[in-house]
Amino acid sequence: QGILYIVPTPIGNLGDITERAVKTLAEVAAIAAEDTRHTRKLMQHYGIQNDVFALHEHNETQRVDAVIERLLQGDSLALVSDAGTPLINDPGYVLVHRCRERGLKVIALPGACAVTVALSAAGLPTDRFAFEGFLPSKPQQRRAKLEALKIEPRTVVVYESPHRILHTLADMNVVLGSGRQIVLARELTKQFETYLNGTAAELLQVLTDDTNQQRGEMVLLIAPAQSEADVRDGPGEAAKRTLLLLLEELP
Ligand code: SAM
Repeated sequence: QGILYIVPTPIGNLGDITERAVKTLAEVAAIAAEDTRHTRKLMQHYGIQNDVFALHEHNETQRVDAVIERLLQGDSLALVSDAGTPLINDPGYVLVHRCRERGLKVIALPGACAVTVALSAAGLPTDRFAFEGFLPSKPQQRRAKLEALKIEPRTVVVYESPHRILHTLADMNVVLGSGRQIVLARELTKQFETYLNGTAAELLQVLTDDTNQQRGEMVLLIAPAQSEADVRDGPGEAAKRTLLLLLEELP
């Protein structure tokens, strides 16, 4: 039986790929890629020659059986996404889940991931954290999600798009209030890498004054709820205070 390798690729800086990743991409029978053109460019950069086929969110379920069949026949394969670690807000879960069901070996290589890069340098607590992917794009759902996160005792990491950043910060200002620290980590590993920290209102001001700060790829980090002040103004405050106390008691 072949092995499925999960291979992270750079999230901006082309130097951020391991020797083991390059070797694996060159040695497997073929590479399953989110976007074959994108991955071919990366392979060209590292002088890797190999077969590449598409495995993206729209065809993953249909293609999985064929990929499993290949692994069962002895071919080892690599899975890559456009950037960073596959499965982290990228395709791959369906395939890995099915491999595990079939008893096939899956090996994940360590590598670039915007979540861990942002967390490592943001200066917010890292002893525990919650990753929420992208917040909902619809305003009502986004605010409801933020309401739920208002009492979250862990650092919360979310991915954000430049088109929505002002709306999201405005919602955070309303829902999370003026006491909560937010970090905006932008263009990580790239030329214009920036970390901005402040309340949602302060970040809104910075981004409005300098529209360059609204551009590029971004991660938002929300500081943990620390005190009753974080839950003071919201609806159902007594229930939230109780929940916050209970959450603190959990292991
Ligand atoms: N699998 C990727 C990873 O490991 O980070 C994430 C893929 S997700 C579809 C793309 C989102 O990740 C972007 O919209 C952005 O929120 C975040 N991201 C990716 N690269 C980034 C970077 N260099 N700087 C900041 N955020 C980044």
